[in-house]
Amino acid sequence: MRAVLSRRAEKFDGEGRASNGRIVRASTEMRVPIVDAKTVRALRADLLRWYRKNRRDLPWRRTSDPYRIWISETMLQQTRVSVVIPYYEKFTARFPDAASLASASVDEVLACWAGLGYYRRARLLKRAAEKVATDYGGALPDAPAVLADLPGIGRYTAGAILSIAFGRPAAVLDGNVFRVLSRFFALKGSWRRSADRTVFWTLAEALVPKRTPGDFNQALMELGALVCKPRDPVCPACPIHARCKARLTGRIDRFPAPSPRQAAEIVAGSRHVILDREGRILLVRRPEGGRMEGLWDLPESAPRGARAEKAGIVRHSVLRFRYVIDVFLASRPVRARKGGDARRWVAREDLGSYALTGMAKKAIRIGLGAKRR
Ligand code: SF4
Repeated sequence: MRAVLSRRAEKFDGEGRASNGRIVRASTEMRVPIVDAKTVRALRADLLRWYRKNRRDLPWRRTSDPYRIWISETMLQQTRVSVVIPYYEKFTARFPDAASLASASVDEVLACWAGLGYYRRARLLKRAAEKVATDYGGALPDAPAVLADLPGIGRYTAGAILSIAFGRPAAVLDGNVFRVLSRFFALKGSWRRSADRTVFWTLAEALVPKRTPGDFNQALMELGALVCKPRDPVCPACPIHARCKARLTGRIDRFPAPSPRQAAEIVAGSRHVILDREGRILLVRRPEGGRMEGLWDLPESAPRGARAEKAGIVRHSVLRFRYVIDVFLASRPVRARKGGDARRWVAREDLGSYALTGMAKKAIRIGLGAKRR
């Protein structure tokens, strides 16, 4: 065991292999230590013992179905567990397997996903499910290269599915794992720097055990979420605190290296609540390739000849974008013309079955509120 770990450990010396096979160097300030086999064994044992006692009872941990684990891991990226749980329950009840997801329309999938954000993921899930249904008989493949070739399945998701659902020794690296490893080994890398992430991938791959790799990966992620939090880590409750270099040297706040904050971008615009004579609302589909593609929104301008009055302002944030949107209400009902695929007149009671942008939901509330006044 020592020999294998030592051979692998040689790779830790500031280099890592990117997913395209290229060797890349990490930040100059990153000095990756040789990890001895004893430390690795202790780290694995301590983490696994702690995880088995402290893990949260989450819906996707009650199954070994690769499809459900795939859905949960896709939803969990950059999204809190408490937010994901109801979406996961609803989504897997509506689409219990790859075949049902493949045969649903994009609109149905987006409507079920609406509110969770990152809608591109839902579209890619649907595309991948179609491939799984047609090429693999509805069962997610367990070959790493085949899995990683499916739309939307990146290195993290492939590692999570392979290790948790199939028991393969594949690594995962998300923000939580990065932070724990950075502090434990006192490695000053930055999550935003891809060369640094590549080195951490190499480290994570060397650490993942052949037995129970899924539990080990989840233990690392769980520790990052519950104990080794970005601010105020609870070191006394940490199962690996005795060997944590950042804690032992009193430098926890220096690891990982801070990521430069992206400046917020203000986006100004307008949305129009336009009603027809039956009180239906005009929705337009957001174009492909842009932000929030495929979701339903309100028109940015009123139809020719329709007078519109300002009804209020919507403030809405998505990632680093801060939208400040003037909401207008068309003062008279307009004659509905056939919508086609990109425009639709929708009765208010049917709005719930459309995947609306958060901005459109707020604007509709403001517009209809102004109409009642
Ligand atoms: S001892 Fe503290 S800083 Fe180190 S891994 Fe545990 S929680 Fe994180």
